[in-house]
Amino acid sequence: MTDPLVTVDDLEKYYYENDTLLDRLTGAEREAVRAVDGVSFEVREGETLGVVGESGCGKSTLAETLMRLREPTGGSVTFDGDPVFDLSGTDMNAFRRRAQVMFQDPFSSLDPRMTAGEIITEPLAIHGVGTSGERRERAETLLDEVGLSADQIDRYPHEFSGGQRQRIGFARALAIDPEFIVLDEPVSALDVSVQAQVLNLLADMQAERDLTYLFIAHDLSVVRHISDRVAVMYLGEIVEIGPTEEIFEDPKHPYTKALLESVPRADTDERDRTVETIRGDVPSPRNPPSGCSFRTRCPELIQPPGLDLPQATFRGISEFRTRIENGDIDVDLRWEQVGDPDREDREAFVDSLREEAFDTELPDAEEETVSEAIRALADGDRETAAATLRERYRSPCEAIDPGLPAGEHPSACLLNEQPEDVETAREEWEADYEAPEAGASSR
Ligand code: SF4
Repeated sequence: MTDPLVTVDDLEKYYYENDTLLDRLTGAEREAVRAVDGVSFEVREGETLGVVGESGCGKSTLAETLMRLREPTGGSVTFDGDPVFDLSGTDMNAFRRRAQVMFQDPFSSLDPRMTAGEIITEPLAIHGVGTSGERRERAETLLDEVGLSADQIDRYPHEFSGGQRQRIGFARALAIDPEFIVLDEPVSALDVSVQAQVLNLLADMQAERDLTYLFIAHDLSVVRHISDRVAVMYLGEIVEIGPTEEIFEDPKHPYTKALLESVPRADTDERDRTVETIRGDVPSPRNPPSGCSFRTRCPELIQPPGLDLPQATFRGISEFRTRIENGDIDVDLRWEQVGDPDREDREAFVDSLREEAFDTELPDAEEETVSEAIRALADGDRETAAATLRERYRSPCEAIDPGLPAGEHPSACLLNEQPEDVETAREEWEADYEAPEAGASSR
């Protein structure tokens, strides 16, 4: 195993809302949007670390913050032993030469008013490398190396295809001989056939120049093709990291499993495969769920001690509870649908919502609890409805925030090995937990 070139430790990038002077004077509470929330990992010399996750999970913010294109709100990044956030002057310039970024969109990331040659030589000019003639020669060589031709040097971006523009972006990133390149969704905007060519080019250049890559993508199959290790991100956190083949063959985190489930496979008959998509929306980073950030969508959500329902039943009830907690059920509309404007027949309301929310029978105790919650909802008492469900179906996943333990393939899930402090917190939670009576109200 090679040494780490980049070490990211507990990196945070929060944005704050209600944070103007006026907000402070009026006493408005500052709200944190946790775009990157305590992320730690290493990128080893000569490797490609893939970072994958749905859009909005914070992976691009992570890359920009570690490159110091955005200021962090916490944590540290070390590049070849130097603390990046403390660098200034010539040390910062040296870092900017050794670490480069290639951005996602080949249509907007290149200045349309500059020729390919000007785009590629700009970093050389900024860093005062060579004469203008030497820089032009270098650009011609780089154009050849990335599979274009030196005589295209005076053309403008609009004269190139998407794949060719991405090659120009890559030539620019290579211009000052960096050691480390952040590739932010470098092939997402390209056709599949062109993607493969660009990925091959990236791999060839890495082998030739001993480059280290941080490769960001939302497409798992792309990441598999190029990465030595993969980090999976969800809502600003890394939830699993490990060697690529292990992540694909033996995923540990329910989110990684769900992402893999949703990828079409060439070796199975898709008609016979039930593709389990990830249900629900990604929660807002303004108001992330308590405990495990994936719990509102997790198919493996852990049941409280003493409850042993079929997992699909528990998940269905938990999702119903989330809908109530989020105010997603329109009570007025439901009464209208029941056809009872005077709101007299609560049982009709219960039957109507019960039927819409669950397509199977529930065990008697759950039927009783769910019906009691719906009755409270029918009375317009959303708090009590939610509390009734919360009391019986409270998962340890909502009380305990899983951590990412040390190791080659850790996962931030309570079903897997956890750091000691998390294990202790869970033991204490379980010791304090008192199972409620079936159907018992929390009131
Ligand atoms: S901790 Fe719980 S909610 Fe989170 S991924 Fe694991 S099982 Fe799912």
